[in-house]
Amino acid sequence: MRITILGGGPAGLYGALLMKRLDPSRQITLIERDGPDDTFGWGIVFSDQTFDYLRESDPPSYEAITAACEKWDNVDVVHRGERITVRGNCFSGIARIRFLRVLQDRCREVGVDLQFHHPVTDLTTLPPHDLLVGADGANSLVRRVHERLFEPTLDYGRNKYIWLGTPKLFHGLTLTFVEHPTGVYAAHSYKFDKHTSTFIVECSESTWRTAALGEMPPARTAAFLEEVFHDHLDGHPLLTKNFVKWLNFPLVRNRRWHGERIVLLGDALHTAHFSIGSGTKLALEDAIMLARAFGTESDAAAALPLFEASRRPRVEQYQQAAMDSLKWFEEMADYVHLGPLPFALEAMTRSKRVDVEKLRQRDPEFVAAWERSAGLGKE
Ligand SMILES: Cc1cc2nc3c(=O)[nH]c(=O)nc-3n(C[C@H](O)[C@H](O)[C@H](O)COP(=O)(O)OP(=O)(O)OC[C@H]3O[C@@H](n4cnc5c(N)ncnc54)[C@H](O)[C@@H]3O)c2cc1C
Repeated sequence: MRITILGGGPAGLYGALLMKRLDPSRQITLIERDGPDDTFGWGIVFSDQTFDYLRESDPPSYEAITAACEKWDNVDVVHRGERITVRGNCFSGIARIRFLRVLQDRCREVGVDLQFHHPVTDLTTLPPHDLLVGADGANSLVRRVHERLFEPTLDYGRNKYIWLGTPKLFHGLTLTFVEHPTGVYAAHSYKFDKHTSTFIVECSESTWRTAALGEMPPARTAAFLEEVFHDHLDGHPLLTKNFVKWLNFPLVRNRRWHGERIVLLGDALHTAHFSIGSGTKLALEDAIMLARAFGTESDAAAALPLFEASRRPRVEQYQQAAMDSLKWFEEMADYVHLGPLPFALEAMTRSKRVDVEKLRQRDPEFVAAWERSAGLGKE
């Protein structure tokens, strides 16, 4: 079986690795626009559950990835200068480039043909194949060319966001809220190696306009945001990389997931707002489920519907949670009048996947403190 995969992000690389590993006779070619060392963004974050899947699917990459991760169990919500720590939330951060290199190395080891520096503008130029996998990200060419087949919907979040880095090390997933004269800003930050943290800033479009952020070059944007988050950066700078710009988060969905010999994976198929930190996890799980479907059914005509049937319900659950979380950040200005504890509770329950009882299991002290502050504590 000849498989061509467009896109060398997490979905494409892990899909190539697992499909080849399960059947070495498959000829797998992965085509990627950028070079092996180019990557957008800084670090990515995973929950512990993701690691269970990675361990089962390919132990060598699991070992290499976990060895390179920074781990923590706290989410910190910082509001009005007060830090509320909520424990029992086990996550790990890793540099995106490090993560991709592990997968690239494993692909080479098992014999995937990796072709970098190869931007594709015309799908008819792809090598002959029995299966085409569109793992080419949120702006997928495969999806656009086959729009009638997939029937995608593409919406955009209302907030503006920008993905920055900083040498300030944030231990734990830290959500910092600042009420600035131009509006409310939120930063999502976490360390992903010994020297750097991801620092994603988001704000409403009206805040963005009031601050004239659309007109600022990257260096001035970083300087402006350093001033906004001055009290939280301890004098560390904000770092820009490649072509950094303000974006609206794209919400991708597809009515159909596959044709007879064509399928989408990862962000090409579905996106989930970064505030629930699940985009890469979903991309990897897609790859796992696609490989499993081909383990059960060797023929694409049977394997692809099996992939969709086994995967769609889970993806839709995550997309709903991500949508609720995205909306909460769009409405964050409505919550900032709350004191730090009730505000932290609102932030922790925003995706509606976690309620007070779940939080109590994770961190009884936090819930007890919140109950006392709300007058609900035991006498
Ligand atoms: C601000 C932000 C923060 C995020 N934070 C997290 C996080 O903390 N944790 C998490 O799990 N996820 C996070 N994500 C989401 C995560 O980055 C994506 O969900 C994940 O990368 C999806 O993987 P993918 O392989 O489907 O797509 P991508 O990573 O986008 O990879 C697609 C690849 O296809 C290539 N490509 C595209 N078109 C072509 C073409 N025509 N020819 C050749 N190559 C092509 C691209 O160069 C790219 O390498 C975040 C996303 C954003 C925007």
